[in-house]
Amino acid sequence: MLKEMLGELRAGNPVVLSKRQAQNGDVIPDDFLIFEDGRYYISAINCQSSGALGLGNCHCQSHHPRMETRVSRTLALAELRALIARNNQERHDRDAEIAWLDQAIAGL
Ligand SMILES: [Zn+2]
Repeated sequence: MLKEMLGELRAGNPVVLSKRQAQNGDVIPDDFLIFEDGRYYISAINCQSSGALGLGNCHCQSHHPRMETRVSRTLALAELRALIARNNQERHDRDAEIAWLDQAIAGL
């Protein structure tokens, strides 16, 4: 999993660290990690009412809807490892709940 994520970064693609639901129901990237010109950045939503991001009706004329912060390789790796851990936990919880429901149904 980590290897694929590092490969995505190297290819210039963002790795989405978290998502949120926009007002129109679309699930949009919240924070994402990017690797650009030998540096790591985390892009985060800067305007919680950004119309461009579907979060509200701000036109973001005096500010940017997103903001990028340069981060160290150590922090970038920590974010990726935390993402992998969250994904594994979600998968585990999902599988456990499906197994519980199967068992409950079989017991009725
Ligand atoms: Zn705005």
